[in-house]
Amino acid sequence: MTMTAKEFILTLEDVDKTFDGFKAISGLTFYMDVGELRTIIGPNGAGKSTMLDLITGRTRPDRGKIEFGRDTDLTGLNEYQINRLGIGRKFQTPSVYTDHTVFENLLLSLPGTRSVWEALFSRVTRAQRDRIDELLQITRLAGQVGTKAGALAHGQKQRLEIGMLLAQDAKLLLVDEPTAGMTDEETARTGELLLSLAGTHSLIVIEHDMAFVRQIARKVTVLHQGSVLCEGTVDEVQNNEQVVEVYLGRKHDPKRHL
Ligand code: ADP
Ligand code: MG
Repeated sequence: MTMTAKEFILTLEDVDKTFDGFKAISGLTFYMDVGELRTIIGPNGAGKSTMLDLITGRTRPDRGKIEFGRDTDLTGLNEYQINRLGIGRKFQTPSVYTDHTVFENLLLSLPGTRSVWEALFSRVTRAQRDRIDELLQITRLAGQVGTKAGALAHGQKQRLEIGMLLAQDAKLLLVDEPTAGMTDEETARTGELLLSLAGTHSLIVIEHDMAFVRQIARKVTVLHQGSVLCEGTVDEVQNNEQVVEVYLGRKHDPKRHL
């Protein structure tokens, strides 16, 4: 009989990263299952964005293991190579082609498209069109297919960018503070979109809006001073004494704003 061990999409073990003598990441160990939607919270400066920089090859660790899937070592690869493996990152500010339509933005993100020129002036294949239709449904942007990305509402832009990561066939999506600057309705829609992707994709979502965390969270990791302070459900981490202490010191109400 063959036993299938639970597979990790991501493994970080004992990772350190120092900037000018300051340990931004310190002995960070983190495991995530395939198909998980993991929310990461933590005070400003906890190292959340740096953790994503280390995973995506934007920053190199001083030491430690960073592996994608069963055994792909990411520490020796550059950003481009890591992206090609299927790790897509969404930054806080949307990076869409503002002068191009939603359709064109998705088309430009499909694998194998080499240039804007090629994408826009060669014939769109049936397969490409079908995939774009699917992405428009997923991101709920079908009504904006011909709209220039620059004219979209903030929340729509953010959803388009997630659609572009999906177009690139990202298996692991890293999303840093997706709801910053969004209305409540846009926030709820973004939450629905991320939830709908869990299972077929693995997602790390960094967020500090606790209402949003509550909407999407299954397992929450609290980062503090560059390592994991605790992990658990939203209730577990909000009631964790150490977590409360960390936030009390900052005059934050941990029930609302971590
Ligand atoms: P978070 O996203 O949790 O708010 P960051 O990962 O952005 O925290 O930052 C963690 C710490 O590392 C901060 O003190 C920040 O100033 C520092 N830091 C992050 N990136 C760099 C960098 N490229 N150069 C120098 N210091 C950095
Ligand atoms: Mg950050």
